[in-house]
Amino acid sequence: GSRDKEVMFKAHDFLAKLYHHSLINTRQGEKALEYLKQRGFTEEIIKTFQIGFAPDSWDFATGFLQKRNFPLDKAASAGLLSSRDFDGKYFDRFRNRVMFPIWDHKGQVIAFGGRILGEGEPKYLNSPETKIFHKGKFLYGFHMARSHIRKKQQLVLLEGYVDVTAAHGAGIQNAVASLGTALTRDQAELIRRHVESVVICYDSDKAGLNAAMKASEELGKAGCYVKIARMPDKMDPDDYIQKYGAERFKSDVIGSAQTVMAFKMDTLRKGKNLSDEGERIKYIEEVLREISSLEKAVERDHYLRQLADEFSLSLSALKQQQFQFYKQQK
Ligand code: ATP
Ligand code: MN
Ligand code: MN
Ligand code: MN
Repeated sequence: GSRDKEVMFKAHDFLAKLYHHSLINTRQGEKALEYLKQRGFTEEIIKTFQIGFAPDSWDFATGFLQKRNFPLDKAASAGLLSSRDFDGKYFDRFRNRVMFPIWDHKGQVIAFGGRILGEGEPKYLNSPETKIFHKGKFLYGFHMARSHIRKKQQLVLLEGYVDVTAAHGAGIQNAVASLGTALTRDQAELIRRHVESVVICYDSDKAGLNAAMKASEELGKAGCYVKIARMPDKMDPDDYIQKYGAERFKSDVIGSAQTVMAFKMDTLRKGKNLSDEGERIKYIEEVLREISSLEKAVERDHYLRQLADEFSLSLSALKQQQFQFYKQQK
């Protein structure tokens, strides 16, 4: 019941403080702190996001909770401890990992994401679904971003923890992350309750591109106005900020985000030589297919005219072809 939940919140609050202390004040946290500094984390970011370190130990958190007479079974059902199959003895679930607390929208810690130091699998170990942590229902960083989202009348949607912390450090405090999973309808509706305008800046790889397209559909359905930011191949927002700095990220990535259709047109253009007749016709057909999938007639008309202008084609021929594609989709 609600008593169970209270205990789970308490355990998270305790451990978030403990892991943070272990990172910034102890010998065993030194290598993790070094790792974070190397990656560009400042002390301020580490404090703001209460980043921590779970030492390479089976009983660091377990012992701490036990000493305080904490019900270990509750900590286990909160995803903080695991238990041995053969005797049920509890041990730490998170070991030798940098710890990112995950907050609910009120700012209570409800889960953790733990990153391995350097290379290895799994890169991130996240808390499982529990009574207080429903992955698909909230966004990482939302409680900190909320006031900035309102002020800027815009939300920036990213993929990962480090993308949010880096964006925050770069002055983009209206950023949140969907944490690698597909954006759910609940998340899209949560966003729409706070803001209309969303810029998606997912990782510049195939998975990120696909996820961005799906997210933009989900956000569109929820009633948001969506733009998509573009970065050089294989980069994510954190990589970009570390390499090119905050100002360029703001102007060349977030500030240059395109409408979904313009983004798709640019993507279709890539690798095609439009002065070649065959490739040009292929491009036009691909764009017409995209146009035919647009919900709003006004939008379809807008892009048809744009296409007609650019390639000196008759609007009626384009409309006719677009309508063919439209019928095929139904
Ligand atoms: P880093 O910069 O630390 O390498 P990242 O955020 O760029 O991390 P990605 O591989 O791009 O890592 O993944 C994006 C997000 O997806 C992560 O922040 C994390 O929330 C989630 N994620 C990635 N790998 C895993 C995994 N193995 N298990 C669960 N979640 C994962
Ligand atoms: Mn990725
Ligand atoms: Mn990434
Ligand atoms: Mn990254």
